[in-house]
Amino acid sequence: MPRKSKVTATWIRVMYIFILFLVFVIARLSGEKIVEGPEREIVAEDSQAISHDLAVHFIDVGQADCILVTIKDAAMLIDAGNNEDSQLVVDYIKGRGITTLDYVIATHPHEDHIGGMDAVINGFEVKNIIMPRAESTTKTFEDVLEAISNKGLKITPAVPGTEYSLGEAKFTILAPNSEAYEDTNDYSVVIKLQYGATSFLFTGDAGFESENEMLEKGYDLRADLLKVAHHGSKYSTSMKFLEAVQPKIAVISVGEDNDYGHPAPETIQRLRQAGAKIYRTDESGTIIATSDGKAIEMLNP
Ligand SMILES: [Zn+2]
Repeated sequence: MPRKSKVTATWIRVMYIFILFLVFVIARLSGEKIVEGPEREIVAEDSQAISHDLAVHFIDVGQADCILVTIKDAAMLIDAGNNEDSQLVVDYIKGRGITTLDYVIATHPHEDHIGGMDAVINGFEVKNIIMPRAESTTKTFEDVLEAISNKGLKITPAVPGTEYSLGEAKFTILAPNSEAYEDTNDYSVVIKLQYGATSFLFTGDAGFESENEMLEKGYDLRADLLKVAHHGSKYSTSMKFLEAVQPKIAVISVGEDNDYGHPAPETIQRLRQAGAKIYRTDESGTIIATSDGKAIEMLNP
């Protein structure tokens, strides 16, 4: 009897260790979806999980911008992150089962917006590429132009007031409104996307100058969701601009502990004052907003 109970005790101990090991493995596997440390992992639902018609993915590319808009079979990409995000961006889009991008918008020629653009152009069938009339001498910009030319694509210049359709949704270009700017950020292509009763405003890195021009032009800037310009910089998102947009939701695409101190406390303050609920990619990873044409739903966090 004593011998038998000793064997039983050993077995219980072995089983206990095995169960602990199983719990650890399961925790690790389910933990893979969570953003860990400096490594950025895509936090996204399966495409089947999105029951609504329109989805806007603010892909977590750190201190950069990359937004994928999908509606049924139509897709649009606004910016493509930094050079180092190329694979991540391409994989994310492919992961949604997308092979064709109806529109690719390069808001302005800064690396944190067009870095992965050449990889996107090479990796997908691109129907239209919209860019501002802004030049740059950087290798990154030249890579984009080369990819465009290799694919035999023609750049569509961003002309304010022009309307395009994306599936059942439509979008209108609202900026840039001048031929030349001192600050490259002000060349940012700004678009308003309308889907049923819901609307989204994507502002690139546009600053006060561009915002004032849009206000002067008298465009209908009102939007439910605002992609906050320039990673939440204090030189964008004026109170006057916010009063015209009246966003309920504000999304800031920004890197954790970035060198610029983005988002600026002043901008956060203004957004709060405007009554917008703030979502940040540095806190939540990839953020997905969906719309059924009646309301916008934030899938995470
Ligand atoms: Zn930027």
